[in-house]
Amino acid sequence: MTIPAPHGPAADGVRRITVLSGGYGGAKFVQGLLALVRERPEPVEVTVVANTADDLWLHGLKVCPDLDTVMYTLGGGLDTDRGWGRREETWSVKQELEAYGVEPTWFGLGDRDVATHLVRTEMLEAGYPLSAVTEALCRRWQPGVRLLPMTDDRVETHIVVDDPDQPSGQRAVHFQEYWVRLRAEVPARAVVVVGLDKATPGPGVVDALLDADVVLVPPSNPVVSVGTVLGVPGVRDALRETGAPVVGLSPIIGGHHLRGMAEQLLTALDVEVSAAGVAEHYGARTAGGVLDGWLVDSTDADAVDRLRGAGIRCEAVPLLMTDVRATAAMAEAALGLAAR
Ligand code: GDP
Ligand code: CA
Repeated sequence: MTIPAPHGPAADGVRRITVLSGGYGGAKFVQGLLALVRERPEPVEVTVVANTADDLWLHGLKVCPDLDTVMYTLGGGLDTDRGWGRREETWSVKQELEAYGVEPTWFGLGDRDVATHLVRTEMLEAGYPLSAVTEALCRRWQPGVRLLPMTDDRVETHIVVDDPDQPSGQRAVHFQEYWVRLRAEVPARAVVVVGLDKATPGPGVVDALLDADVVLVPPSNPVVSVGTVLGVPGVRDALRETGAPVVGLSPIIGGHHLRGMAEQLLTALDVEVSAAGVAEHYGARTAGGVLDGWLVDSTDADAVDRLRGAGIRCEAVPLLMTDVRATAAMAEAALGLAAR
């Protein structure tokens, strides 16, 4: 494996890898990346810039699903069967709230998880920004990466769905309500990210992009995970400016997502639901977009020529994160493409 050599002001021998992440797909990818770089002789520092637009306030608690998924996954606390929340979880708090008839009842608020949200909320209310709170929570979990919220500002993704009871025939629901309560089973008509245009990048985010030796875009949701990170004013500019190659991996294989609702949301944005469609949506850095390179799954090899024609270095390799070894091989292929 070759990690592009250190460059610029940070040329101290440490290889710096920055990853833009959602929850499940991003965290799983970083797990493979860490397994790979731990075998390397040179010091490697991984920074994860995580989406916070899935965040919500629930029963007075601030819940940050993507930050927590990354933290729990890399810190060994995740329920790997469910793919979210704490392992060995119990649900007394949720049951008691339901017994009181308190809404919403659809969100999976586990007892162990509640402790994280209590600590977070208490610190936020004491005046600490989310970035400082995240750092404090990571002191327990030791995820092995620097975990940065994309912003300290409140940003919330809402999904517009049909609702015949409304005069307009539509209504916006919080992203979590669309995903968890509605199970993404109704068409998404539009995606509105409230507060995004006024948000500023969290502390360290822009520098993590400018000082990186390589920037990786994992197979996270291109609309509500990576799309929202890219939408924080200043992030796209930093990606265009950085001397680091930017390489992504497709979350779409054979025209379908693997878990989640990327298909529904890409359709709402009029983006072709395919590995090539997502890459073209991100765009080539040479044409004002953010990508230098893109990996598609072996079954999508026909996308390679199309993307090369669009100015994106492209290769087809297996992209199923079936286990840590397979995921590490994906990370290796991404770093290889970046080094070329
Ligand atoms: P979320 O915030 O928990 O929804 O997680 P992410 O946004 O980080 O990742 C969700 C994306 O991961 C979905 O769009 C999936 O298609 C993608 N995904 C899940 N498993 C795999 C996999 O094994 N391989 C690839 N290439 N993508 C995957
Ligand atoms: Ca998410």
